[in-house]
Amino acid sequence: MKLAMIGFGQAGGKIVDRFVDYDERTQSGIVRSAIAVNTAKADLMGLENIQNENRVLIGQSRVKGHGVGADNELGAEIAEEDIDEVQGAIDSIPTHEIDAFLVVAGMGGGTGSGGAPVLAKHLKRIYTIPVYGLGVLPGSDEGGIYTLNAARSFQTFVREVDNLLVFDNDSWRQAGESVEGGYEEINEEIVRRFGVLFGAGEVGQGDEVGESVVDSSEIINTLAGGGISTVGYATEEVELSDDSGLLSRFTGGDDEQVDTAHTTNRITSLVRKAALGRLTLPCEIEGAERALLVMAGPTEHLNRKGIERGRKWLEEQTGSMEVRGGDYPLREPQVASCILLSGVNNVPRIKELQQVAIEAQDNIEAIREESEDNLQNLVEDDEDELEPLF
Ligand code: GDP
Repeated sequence: MKLAMIGFGQAGGKIVDRFVDYDERTQSGIVRSAIAVNTAKADLMGLENIQNENRVLIGQSRVKGHGVGADNELGAEIAEEDIDEVQGAIDSIPTHEIDAFLVVAGMGGGTGSGGAPVLAKHLKRIYTIPVYGLGVLPGSDEGGIYTLNAARSFQTFVREVDNLLVFDNDSWRQAGESVEGGYEEINEEIVRRFGVLFGAGEVGQGDEVGESVVDSSEIINTLAGGGISTVGYATEEVELSDDSGLLSRFTGGDDEQVDTAHTTNRITSLVRKAALGRLTLPCEIEGAERALLVMAGPTEHLNRKGIERGRKWLEEQTGSMEVRGGDYPLREPQVASCILLSGVNNVPRIKELQQVAIEAQDNIEAIREESEDNLQNLVEDDEDELEPLF
């Protein structure tokens, strides 16, 4: 499906920037427009692929291009005040050509954390197409203020979007890596997973034809109904055959039989690996309200039976009656299973995030009060013999 992507804040901008690169590399056709919004000039200048005229600096009168320093209330205020500047960039998007908006932000900081929900609310008021969010949760080692920001932004963002796709940095950071190096890999993972998912509904002319290709309406219907979504992903390398995959599927005798069974088994095990492996937001898959299974790869390595079995298995595991599935024909030497689980409810990570956020909030409050008392004690002389000037 075709998206207008708007990255809010540093993480949001960087991720959309990577999406543009992915789109150019793979010709997936998912990024119809890409915009980055920030209060920090340096972050906008660091982007590589988003066009200059689509980089919007907001809050200049308030923070002079220096960012909001992890103050997400200020981030939200500035977004509200300068929404017309953001709209100015959105006006150049041919909205009749897009299927949805995707607002991307890291939820632990200030600009994206505060601004993304404001923008989502604004977009929903003006446009009839869906507005999705892609929210990145901070690592648990980032500290209390980031967790508090994320927990508050999360509540607001979910309310303002048609569906919030979540990626949790905490379960993806790798020990020993520098933060920047770590983010590069993490961002690649984000872009790959969501790229395959949204790319599935965007099979163009001249592409291979699958047996039951996923349509963008199936992605939209899986996301409809709101709530939180997570994505599972697993791949296996395969050999690409020389002839067009379609032909080999209808020819051949005994070998073909073996092949078919092998293909089906590969698909079913990839579906299990994707659903039971690391999700973008770890959660219990049981109770997910809707799901979409996308099997991507060369058509000769995809078959209806495998996808049907995978779909049934997902129905059993989630208990959902709304599990959709289909092909995404791709001429690449691998088969990938990408699973969108939408309306997930059993997410211990969110409960933990909220708990830590409440503790951080209480601590911040206590420290603030204590610091007022401490300053008072320091500045005032013990016997109150001195008078201030005025
Ligand atoms: P903002 O510019 O004020 O919106 O804040 P940032 O986007 O810099 O940071 C917000 C949060 O996003 C941080 O707490 C990190 O958890 C996360 N973050 C920052 N940069 C990246 C990135 O490149 N990739 C990912 N996945 N997360 C990031």
